[in-house]
Amino acid sequence: MSMITRFAPSPTGGLHKGHAFSALTAWTAAQASGGRFLLRIEDTDFTRCRPEHEAAILDDLRWLGLDWESPVRRQSEHRGEYEAALEGLRDRGLLYRCFRTRKELMATAGVAPHGDDPADPQAFAHGPHDPAEEAERLARGEAFAWRLSLDRAREVLDGFDALTWVEEAHRPGIHTARPERLGDMVLGRKDIGAGYVLAAVIDDAAQGVTHVIRGEDLVEVTSVQRVLQALLGLPTPVYRHHPLILGADGRRLAKRDRSATLGDIRASGVSAADLRAELGF
Ligand code: GLU
Repeated sequence: MSMITRFAPSPTGGLHKGHAFSALTAWTAAQASGGRFLLRIEDTDFTRCRPEHEAAILDDLRWLGLDWESPVRRQSEHRGEYEAALEGLRDRGLLYRCFRTRKELMATAGVAPHGDDPADPQAFAHGPHDPAEEAERLARGEAFAWRLSLDRAREVLDGFDALTWVEEAHRPGIHTARPERLGDMVLGRKDIGAGYVLAAVIDDAAQGVTHVIRGEDLVEVTSVQRVLQALLGLPTPVYRHHPLILGADGRRLAKRDRSATLGDIRASGVSAADLRAELGF
């Protein structure tokens, strides 16, 4: 089958070896199937994305020997589509306002959340505020996020057990959505509006992506994205969540580990062929 796949980096910093592995995996799979490889710039978070990072990403990918179709889809150019989807979900009672600050969420949880990043309060279970508190905080002009209500989604979709997808890499087989693990995720942020989780689902459908090839760190969020596909009437691609490339210390690479950026690797004299070989390509 000739596949359409994509690499979807966020220009919040330089790419590291893990991104190179992901991009090479997707590009190679597209080539092998006689399919198409797309590049998508996931720049919904304008508080952290920078044009110079985007330029460096394109440059690094070309250096790696990859090519992709034009025009490149930039999420910042499609905000209206994401906001319209958010509004539609809101009109169906699927979202609720969350005024809780990061500090409040951490305090309410009291325990370490799931996931890698213990500072990420998205990972806690929530639920709507009581109406009086909501009205009060709204009247005070407090900022709020829009969270997906899994209770309401469960009602609308008649449970989640029928929501499945084919996974071809990480525990291959048919997976069933278990969105409860991440709780009621934020779909619309206080500062930037619609964020990555929703935007990626809309984009994958808009771009006709048949295979989502990305790192294992996104396995859990797939459940929530599968719920969104069902709510929005969008197709479900096949998923391939590949293992993450680990640093010398055995921890996953992060953009903050400067030594691991492709820019630094290039500057140290490593050739693209060397890096491809090291990553198994
Ligand atoms: N933008 C995400 C990241 O850089 C990737 C999302 C995806 O591939 O679905 O981690």
